[in-house]
Amino acid sequence: TKQQYVRTKPHLNIGTMGHVDHGKTTLTAAITKVLAERDGTNRYVAFDRIDRAPEEIERGITITIAHVEYETPTRHYAHVDMPGHADYVKNMITGAAQLDGAVLVVSAQDGAMPQTREHVVLARRIGVEHLVVALNKADLVEDEDLLDLVELEVRELLTRYGFDGEAVPVVRVSGLRALDGDPRWTQRILHLLEAVDEHVPIPPRRLDLPFLMPIENVLTITGRGTVVTGAVEQGVLSVGDAVEVVGLGPAVASVATGLETFGKPMERAEAGDNAAVLLRGVKRGEVRRGQVVCLPGSVRPHTRFRADVHVLSAAEGGRRTPFAANYRPQFHFRTSDVVGVVTLAEGVTVVRPGEAASLTVELGQPIAMSAGLGFAMREGRLTVAAGTVREVLD
Ligand code: GDP
Ligand code: MG
Repeated sequence: TKQQYVRTKPHLNIGTMGHVDHGKTTLTAAITKVLAERDGTNRYVAFDRIDRAPEEIERGITITIAHVEYETPTRHYAHVDMPGHADYVKNMITGAAQLDGAVLVVSAQDGAMPQTREHVVLARRIGVEHLVVALNKADLVEDEDLLDLVELEVRELLTRYGFDGEAVPVVRVSGLRALDGDPRWTQRILHLLEAVDEHVPIPPRRLDLPFLMPIENVLTITGRGTVVTGAVEQGVLSVGDAVEVVGLGPAVASVATGLETFGKPMERAEAGDNAAVLLRGVKRGEVRRGQVVCLPGSVRPHTRFRADVHVLSAAEGGRRTPFAANYRPQFHFRTSDVVGVVTLAEGVTVVRPGEAASLTVELGQPIAMSAGLGFAMREGRLTVAAGTVREVLD
């Protein structure tokens, strides 16, 4: 039988972000290795296990996506390592909506690069307020003055995009050398984790609100039924509770007959947890990524809303040219991705990269939403804008 999940420390969701090849996955592996060598509660997760496709990480009824799990002396973390390919941002929006903080990985050799900027902009817009910088590949830069310069540049970048660049901890690390077990660099990994423990506050969990979990993945367990996984956004859910799956079509009613986190059964899932929910009587094709699991009757899906957006400049990963009314990008809310058509405010004919704008949007499919929800607008590989729902219309 499986070991029950025991809640002994506060649980936080964090992730690595930063430009491709700056060492996010290597650093993630190094964190698990250094912690595993320090105590028995942690398990080393090697580089190729982290980089692997989500579908392959199926264990019991849990699918862990790109999450790894570890504990520091004071906290339990679920850590998302976002893949380095072109739809990084899409994954980041999914994960970032739930991130309590993030480790921004910047190569000390290259400094901040376009994707560094894009992720910082998105972090700000999607509501990831607490960052710690890992100045990685510090083993490759011997000149301390050069390291100081790169650090200064990163702090300035953070300040420019609304973070407190002066106060953000910047820790010089080498994920690769720490993986090799070099004590100088394993020590730095511990410093980085101390900075995360100290700088990322325990977020207020909205336990009193009705249960809501965006679906990240759906899988079938032969003989048991359909399981949906995701990060619980608000509320609590106990085994045996009635639920409803909402969005992208008619609602589906069910009962949660099993709950797990990281492969361990639990009686109760609560806001902030990564959960796998076994749904009674639901067939695989009936539910999908982009819907939410919620308390019956608590959420209504909507297609029209008013929003405030920040349109990304080309340097931030956005368009080079303005867009006009009737523009049709993809809208990413939580784990969903639907097309929508844009109406501009009266008197406005175009919206330029780098500008702030007020838009009215009509989505092609209804999505569970309420005022305050963050989203991104994308077109092909570009992140056109990041925004917040101001008012739900219908
Ligand atoms: P990601 O795309 O940000 O996930 O980057 P990866 O973790 O895949 O690393 C990209 C490359 O940089 C790989 O060849 C790593 O071995 C190398 N690398 C990562 N971290 C370090 C480091 O701290 N020092 C050195 N010298 N190389 C590193
Ligand atoms: Mg990677």
